[in-house]
Amino acid sequence: MQRKAVALISGGLDSLLAVRVLQEQGIHVEGINFFTGFCVEGHTHAIRKKDQKKPKRNNALWCAEQLGIKLHIIDIVEEYKDVVFNPKYGYGANLNPCLDCKIFMVKKAREWMEAHDFDFIITGEVVGQRPKSQRKDTMPVVQKDSGIEDRLLRPLCAKNLPQTLPEREGWVDREKLYDFSGRSRKPQMALARKFGFEDYAQPAGGCCFLTDAQYSVKLQDLWKARGNKQYEMDDIMLLKVGRHIRPEPGYKLIISREEGEGKFLQGYRKQYPSLKTTSHAGPLCLIDGDFAEEQIEQAARIVARYSQGKNADTVELEYRDTDGNTRNIQVAPLPPHELNKEWIV
Ligand code: SF4
Repeated sequence: MQRKAVALISGGLDSLLAVRVLQEQGIHVEGINFFTGFCVEGHTHAIRKKDQKKPKRNNALWCAEQLGIKLHIIDIVEEYKDVVFNPKYGYGANLNPCLDCKIFMVKKAREWMEAHDFDFIITGEVVGQRPKSQRKDTMPVVQKDSGIEDRLLRPLCAKNLPQTLPEREGWVDREKLYDFSGRSRKPQMALARKFGFEDYAQPAGGCCFLTDAQYSVKLQDLWKARGNKQYEMDDIMLLKVGRHIRPEPGYKLIISREEGEGKFLQGYRKQYPSLKTTSHAGPLCLIDGDFAEEQIEQAARIVARYSQGKNADTVELEYRDTDGNTRNIQVAPLPPHELNKEWIV
């Protein structure tokens, strides 16, 4: 009887290898990729110029294609909010609730496994690789709190961990699993070469924006401004894009930094009032929050400061409300010394 495993696929090298290790042992594997809204995958690097050398692809799907497995992409945006708001085990260096996140994802994968009659779960985790969620003492916490217990196999470091059910039952040969540990990526790279994988995503710090210091500051600013720990999908998408400037507690400006961001923000002009320089080349700005009429001019002066007319006496901008009504405003660009550093989120 062929045993079936469900793999958590992030799109990085580790999950790619973990699946291939099990495929070599004749296990049928299908992948799950959870979409939280904070995923780095295929978002900002698809918009900004500086990242254009990176392939614009969904790496989880790409991994599945390389491995020849089916990938189930599951949207957990709503349920995941509770993990972000109230992590039982707290946050990491930024707003990343990694241990709670892992528990949650393994729990969701367990429910999927049970509903689809699969036998166990695999992940690409390596003991000692991440400071919080991939430690020898926290790995059993994931197993216990998610309810998966010994049906969770980590093929890349299994030899450093107690035997799991698939090993005990002989579905998987423990001798053909690995004993990787620590932060070095060299063993993974060597294994990738052995399997003939030449191209794979290079993980840079984490799989989601919650590990990013600047992003976390912006999210905290949003919570503070709204007076509660809430967010909607558009909020967390927009935190990935543009310069965020809060001249008053009640509203902030989201100013594009380059053409790609400007085009991306255009798509939000029915939801947010906007400003766009017309006399000079310049950014598009969305205004998020409550502001008074007289504050539009202050906002326009800030936006003008980031346009090519920053040294001109006056810059003309178009203000557009969410119904599409427009009017022109002429302002003097805000001189650099008047831009309060504390406004910059
Ligand atoms: S980096 Fe993000 S997605 Fe990855 S475990 Fe941590 S919180 Fe979860």
